[in-house]
Order: sequence, then structure tokens, then C-alpha cells
Amino acid sequence: MKLISRLRFYSCILTVFFFTTNAQSQQDQVSSTNNNVFRQLGTDLPTPNMYRTASGAPGREYWQQQVDYNMKIKLDDNTQRIDGSETITYTNNSPDELRYLWLQLDQNMRSLDSDSHKIGEDLWGDSESFRTVKKLKPTFEGGFNIESVVDSYGEGLDYTINKTMMRVELPKVLKPGERFVFSIDWWYNINDRMQIGGRSGFEHFSENDNYLYTIAQFYPRLVVYSDNEGWHNKQFLGNGEFTLCFGDYNVAITVPSDHLVASTGELMNPKTVLTPEQRKRFELAKRTTDQPVLIVTEAEAREAEKGKEKGLKTWVFSAKNVRDFGWASSRKFIWDAMTVPVGKYRPLAMSFYPKEGNPLWEQYSTKAVAQTLKTYSKYTVDYSYPVAISVHTKWIGMEYPMICFNGGRPAADGTYSARTKHGMISVIIHEVGHNFFPMIINSDERQWTWMDEGLNTFVQFLAEQEFDRDYPSRRGAARDITGYMGGDKLRISPIMTNSESIYHFGPNAYGKPATALNILRETVMGRDLFDYAFKEYSRRWAFKHPTPADFFRTMEDASGVDLDWFWRGWFYTNDHVDISLDEVRWMQIDTQNPEVEAAFIKSQDELEPSDISHDRDLVDVPVTYLDVDPTLNDYYTTTGKYEVLELDRLEYEEKIEYLSSEEREMLVSGKNYYEITFRNLGGLVMPLIIGFEYENGEMEVVRIPAEVWLMSEPTVTKVFATDRAVSSIILDPYLETADCDLSNNNWPPRPQPTRFEIFKQYGSSSSRYGAQDDNPMQRAEKNDELLNEKSTD
Ligand SMILES: [Zn+2]
Repeated sequence: MKLISRLRFYSCILTVFFFTTNAQSQQDQVSSTNNNVFRQLGTDLPTPNMYRTASGAPGREYWQQQVDYNMKIKLDDNTQRIDGSETITYTNNSPDELRYLWLQLDQNMRSLDSDSHKIGEDLWGDSESFRTVKKLKPTFEGGFNIESVVDSYGEGLDYTINKTMMRVELPKVLKPGERFVFSIDWWYNINDRMQIGGRSGFEHFSENDNYLYTIAQFYPRLVVYSDNEGWHNKQFLGNGEFTLCFGDYNVAITVPSDHLVASTGELMNPKTVLTPEQRKRFELAKRTTDQPVLIVTEAEAREAEKGKEKGLKTWVFSAKNVRDFGWASSRKFIWDAMTVPVGKYRPLAMSFYPKEGNPLWEQYSTKAVAQTLKTYSKYTVDYSYPVAISVHTKWIGMEYPMICFNGGRPAADGTYSARTKHGMISVIIHEVGHNFFPMIINSDERQWTWMDEGLNTFVQFLAEQEFDRDYPSRRGAARDITGYMGGDKLRISPIMTNSESIYHFGPNAYGKPATALNILRETVMGRDLFDYAFKEYSRRWAFKHPTPADFFRTMEDASGVDLDWFWRGWFYTNDHVDISLDEVRWMQIDTQNPEVEAAFIKSQDELEPSDISHDRDLVDVPVTYLDVDPTLNDYYTTTGKYEVLELDRLEYEEKIEYLSSEEREMLVSGKNYYEITFRNLGGLVMPLIIGFEYENGEMEVVRIPAEVWLMSEPTVTKVFATDRAVSSIILDPYLETADCDLSNNNWPPRPQPTRFEIFKQYGSSSSRYGAQDDNPMQRAEKNDELLNEKSTD
């Protein structure tokens, strides 16, 4: 049953007939208006200057330091130790005189007295792993052992080690434009990544006693000195990643002669380290763009891992304009490669993986690398480095320029769950994607995790959706972030929080910013404006050091869209989206025609439920006084309630005579008007997307920009006209605003059924065909066996 009300026009005034739902008291006039969510963000951002402009672009005096490295590294496969020596050329491009240089000693995070061991909170449950208990008293002797720090004449330089940083005194002031060359020798023990974790380290395979090394943060590297931070001074504690300078690298890596090395940069001495057959295949890969070419096959890798050659080989790599360097080494590697044309570049997509990675890796790794380079280049800048490498690990995901270490290992029998497969493809897209954020668009990770993880996760979502229309992306869609954003506010940090102080690292720094950008693209700005601005940010800051303000400003500058409210709400607060359909009044125009209106009133009266006493009296009181005594009648008992008088008709004729033909048409248009009051319960303002659904299932969608909340009132009321009466009204019908509570988004309220499972308690969880914890691929194989048995019975 629906009750409508009539809107009455007098000349140009309408009267309506209304139906109300879910009315809430109007107490909320005490609102959050003293905290206007649309207030300008400019006052909170750093003042623009000649280095960084108000448009978000690098300024005319923008500068950054250049640091070039020449390194000799030796990997000891018997003791799992790295020995290194480096010559660093530091170019002071700043307008400032420098008296000392700071270096990062990230390995020191693993030294026995590291702060990282001390500051982590321990919250134990009823059961804890051996690893957790062992962590209380670390025994691994990690950290850099600095052997010497000398200038280009071999003279010792004074230095001071402050935990994960080292200050080197310059013999004389380094003036703007000058260079300083110095050398450092060091060694350190490589951590067992499988036991104590880490972004780099080794994995030991007991079969044939082999190691697979993924090596990074392996050398003392320069701290960034910048226009906005000076010498940056955030120690490496573990979460906040790296803040690094661009430079050219020349690195000679000595490893056992039967190892294959995958590395940042281009291989400079293939003749020394590759066999003629491998070189031939490598050249073929440079001409092949459709399928990966195997440079080392699985059969060859299986052979190599059986024996151990005694000799050593030195692999030489050169990398230009990179912010870091990483590499991997093992005799277990299978190696494939293919060329990926992007713009004027032809990078090689490559993968290095042990047989344990197959069959997944051979089928997907290099293809996923190639796809990533294509999609990311489209949305940011063309990939201009010569290679992009994916190295297999059991479970981590970690990125360096041109190379990354990725998890995803099938079961020993070669089957794998869909989760393992998608987890592997996603982590490859993600880590290869880091080539763009932060390797090329070089943000300060130590401080702002979202600037690389969030932006990267956003483009990862685009790449996954281009990979497969039904790709089960974990992050990106608005509906996937509501569980986090609607959670306990005491444990939700704003996105604009330093890396080390973030609760829920994944949803905060990856999921939420990625979703925010996706919402900007789909709902707030539209794809054209967003894509242009996002690409412009990438172009402006490629091979430079952007800050959050540079991003916020560029997105507005290049799109012409004022996003201050969006940055403020989504990035600076922990508010969430919850907008409710608070009240709906359904109105139709009073035609003023007495015949029509009398019939309408009658039809509405008939819809009124009858009174219980009235109904029972029909039986219990068979006759009323009036029935038996006609003298009780008068005008009111004898004239029909819905009777139309001639006078009514004449007055109507007279009244509409004064109306224009347009106004007369409006009276009989039969339009429906819905006055809807929306309430902002979550704090974040968003556009209003309202679906009007008709009886036949058709839906009309109206979009109102977020600026409807400009007065920052908790409620906003608007009237919508439809030709037909609607059967329901849905707020955010495509779930694009991350509304955390959908129960108040429907008129009339619409309960959603959920499924619950009825089960019988079995004594054991296994079926007579065997355990049920296998993956679907394994079950399919089991099923084939079963069918086979049956057919041979
Ligand atoms: Zn990442």
C-alpha cells in the first residue's frame, strides 16, 4: 500500500500528496559546520617556491643531487656473506654548501643492537610460533661491518655511525656544483629470509643443498639532501622504505661460476658469463615480442643444481639514472625473456625462477611483467629502462629498479589454488609496477608509504582488470574498502601519516589511496580529466622527487577540478562514507479538477486500514440508532462525501482560465516528485548517486556532485521529478562511493537475505575419497582418476 500526497498549485504553487519513511528527528541542526569540509587546503600545504610551484610542478630552480656508484661485490656461497667495495661520486647540485654527507646503512636494522628489535610491540596470544619467541632475543649477527672510508687519494675520512645512518666529514666544504669522490669497503652476513624475514636475503633448498639469493640494501647509500627536507633524517626502522637519489651504477658481482645473476641494469659482459647457446637465445629474445624465449631451460637448471663448480665468475652490470640497485643469484635459475615495445623503447621482460616455481612461472611470470609495462606506460610515462625482471621467491614481494622478488609457489605436485595463481600474478604486476612508483616517480617512501604503494596499487588494479575482465582484484573497487574504513577509528590512521605510525598498513597505505584514486576517476572527476591529470603528475615528476603537495596540486591544476575537499576528507582524516536516505516524500500534483481529485481522495480512503472495533461492530451491533431512526439524518448524513458540486466545477473552470497553457499541462502531467533528505553520517562528503527504479525493472540514475554538501550541513534535501511512479529509490546503486552502511540506502527499506549453512557434525572432516584440504586443481585430477577407475571397473 502506498500513500501519496497531492501538491497544490495556486497559480504557480503546487500542492503535493506525500508519503514519508524513516523520519528522523531534526536534532542535527547542531552540525559539524565549524569544521567546513570544503575549506581550502592551501593553508595546510607548504608554501610554493622556486623549487616547487603552486601548480604542483617542479619550479624553475628545482634541483636534486646526483650520486654515482662504482661497486665490486663478492658473494660467498659457503658462508652466506657479502663483501663489497664502492667508489661514490657525489655531485652537489644544491645551492647550498655542504660540510658533511649522510649515508644510509640499512643492513644495520638487522644488527644485534638495532632499535627495530626494541621498539616493536609484543602482543602475545595463547599460542605463539617459535619464530615469535626467538625474536625476543635475536641471535643473527647482521648489519654492516664498515672496513674503511677513504677519499680519492686513499686518505681516511672521519665518520660517525648513528644506528642506520653514517655521517662522513668532508675534508673541505663542498660548494654548489662541486663533486666529491670517496670509497667505502664493507661486509655483512646475509639473513635467512625464510627464518627471520626481510626484503632481501637467501632461501636454502635442502634438496642438493642449494641457495637462492635475493640481494638488496647491500651497500652504504647516500641519504637524500633536498630542497624540502635538507638531509632527511628518518632512521630505517622497518616499515618506512627508502628515500634515494638518482645516479649511474657500474656493478661487478662475483659469484660461483655456475650461478646465474639477475640484476638491475644491462649485462655488460655476456661473452664472459654466458655460453654461446645462451647468448644466441638471449639475442633471439631481443627480437621476440609474442612469447618468452627460454634462455636457460628447466632441464638445464635441474642439471645445474645437482653439481657445484668450484670457480667464480664476475657479472658486470651498468644502470643509468636509477635510484637503487638489486640483484639475485642462484644455480637453480631457469631464465626466460621477451621484448615489450612501449613507445620508442624496447625493454626486455624477464623472469628467473627455480623449478619449484613451475608450471606457474613459465606460463605467467614474464607475460605479467610485459602486461605491467604496457598498462603502466599508458597511464604514466613510457618505461625507458632496458629490462624489467621478476625473480621467484616463495612468498615475498619486493621491488628495486628493473628487478623485483615475487612470491607464488605451486604445490610440490605442480598443482596450485586459484588464490596462489592470482596472488602470483598480482604480486608481479604490483612489484613490476613499482618501477613507476617510486623507482621513476621517486617519492619519499620512508615518510609517505601511500605515495608509492597507493598510487601503484591503483594502477595495479587497472592492469589486473586489463589482464582479465573477471580478475579477482583484492584492492581498488570502492566496495572493498568499506570494511576497513567503517571500522574502529582508534585503530585507523589518516593516509597522511608517517610510515612507522600506520595501523593496518595494507588497507591504509595500499587499499584506501588506491580506492580513493579509483573513485576520483570513476565518480568524482571522470576518466578523461583524471587520466590526463594523473599522467601529467607522472610526466612532471618522472626521475624527480615529488611530495604529497605536488601530487594534490597537480591533480587539481591539470584537471580544473577543486579537490581540496577530497584530499582533506580522504587523506587527512579517518572519516568514512555513510550517507543515508533519511526521508522520502512522494508527491503528485493536485490537478485542481474536482472530479479527478474526488476520485483520488476516495481511492486513497479505500486504502486506509479499517478500525478493529468498527469491523467487530459490523457483527456485534447489527443496527445503529441512525439505521432505525431516520429523523436523525441531516445534510451531512445524506450527502456523499465524494460528491462534486456544480459550483466546484465552475470555480475550477474559472481558476484554470488564468493559467498559461504550460501551467495547465503541468497540472495534468501526472509527474511524480520525490523530496529526499540525505544525511551525512560518516563525515566524508561524496557525490549523491540516486537510482530511481520502476516497476518494470528499469532504472534512471541521477548524479549530484559532492558540492551539494558545500554548506557542510549533516543533511541536504532535494526534489527529483519522474514521469512514472518509482517502485524504489537506491542511493549509490553501483556501490561506487565506498558507503560503509548500505542498510540506509534504500527506499522503501530493503532487507537483504543472507545464507547460512546447516551442517551435521561429522566425526572426521575427511571424506572417503581423502582429505578435503586440497586445491581445486588437485581435486580435478583426483576426479579424473576416479572416473578412470570407474570406467575400467
Ligand atoms: Zn608495494
